[in-house]
Amino acid sequence: MSDDSTTPWAVRVHDLTYHYPDGRAALRGVDLNVAEGECVALVGPNGAGKSTFLLHLNGILPERGRSVTDHHHGIDFGHKTKLHAAIWINGIEVSPANAREVRRRVGLLFQDPDDQLFAATVLEDVAFGPLNLGFSKIDAKRIALESLARVELGDAADRMPHHLSFGERKRACLAGILACSPSILALDEPTANLDPRGRRGFITLMRDLPGTKLIATHDLEMVLELCERTIVLDRGRAVAQGDSRTILGDSALMDQYGLEVPLSLTMRTKIS
Ligand code: ADP
Repeated sequence: MSDDSTTPWAVRVHDLTYHYPDGRAALRGVDLNVAEGECVALVGPNGAGKSTFLLHLNGILPERGRSVTDHHHGIDFGHKTKLHAAIWINGIEVSPANAREVRRRVGLLFQDPDDQLFAATVLEDVAFGPLNLGFSKIDAKRIALESLARVELGDAADRMPHHLSFGERKRACLAGILACSPSILALDEPTANLDPRGRRGFITLMRDLPGTKLIATHDLEMVLELCERTIVLDRGRAVAQGDSRTILGDSALMDQYGLEVPLSLTMRTKIS
């Protein structure tokens, strides 16, 4: 990643601080940029602020002084904001006024698919996004079917989301996101709780997706496969960043933040 003024930034975040309503500081002055087309990992121990950070990218957080129910995701955050920051998505500053435009650009995959799926059938769920963007019913259905085929769920269109396996629900969520053609994917623990085949399939899917990707994860082997750059978050701060192999191979750094050097890197060190 170059760092000059000509870099086209997909995501720019300056001094992002966020306290949950109970006063807990989840983010403390995060500065972070992601260039267009980059695939960047966000790693760090539980509670580091990874999910909170991703929720800011499409304007779900901060909630601005009122209890909000996100009807698409069925989540009542009810958070009040304490914001001293600016976030730009493709150069657009995130604000309540342009929340719609920002959400079109940033596709956020929730950690738990059950926070994301809400409709009676998989097809309705995936078509919700395009319908909301103004596509006709026919076009929304076509786009939804194409997106389902892309995640190999073409034959699940008429099924009820809660009848799908965990891995299928996760892919249905991804289809819902892809149906809106976002330029940035923010993926929260995309491989967590998947069996080995499901994990491998999801990694292949992510690798083949175009656009900018920001992946919060504990799956460091996946990071080595997909992400050229890694940012370490700890207690709400970005404490280290760099080339993924360098960061994840730094045993002192990994140890300091409660992480472990991925096995594939230790084995390479031992052999050479
Ligand atoms: P991570 O994704 O890295 O595990 P989170 O963003 O979930 O971290 O959490 C960051 C901090 O914010 C943690 O201290 C966590 O306890 C706190 N937190 C997360 N969600 C809430 C919430 N809804 N209310 C209060 N505190 C929260």
